[in-house]
Amino acid sequence: MGSQVKVSCKCGLNKSILIGGGMESSSYECFFPCFCKNCSDVVEVNLLDLNPKCPECGEENIIAFDNRLLIGEKGKQVIESWHAFELGRELLLTNGTYKCPKCNTQNLRFSMGDLYWD
Ligand SMILES: [Zn+2]
Ligand SMILES: [Zn+2]
Repeated sequence: MGSQVKVSCKCGLNKSILIGGGMESSSYECFFPCFCKNCSDVVEVNLLDLNPKCPECGEENIIAFDNRLLIGEKGKQVIESWHAFELGRELLLTNGTYKCPKCNTQNLRFSMGDLYWD
């Protein structure tokens, strides 16, 4: 079952992003927030796509938010974790700080959303 997280930053960036996939679609769908430099935005990407790319601009050079490159301070609390067997890794978001694609500071934070979907 998938869920939703909220992402926000001091610069005003504020979005909701879906995580994971549906029960039926979990073998080919795994949504996760990614950093798109081209859009300067956090975008929702299906990491199980053959060529994962930004849904807004088609940029393929995107970075998933579990990448060390984007993690500032690792938080103690897990906001969302998704075991992506197809990717061979666990996708994890904590309440720590992340790099914001809009203002380039480490002020981006994730928090729990209220929507669950399947
Ligand atoms: Zn983009
Ligand atoms: Zn920002």
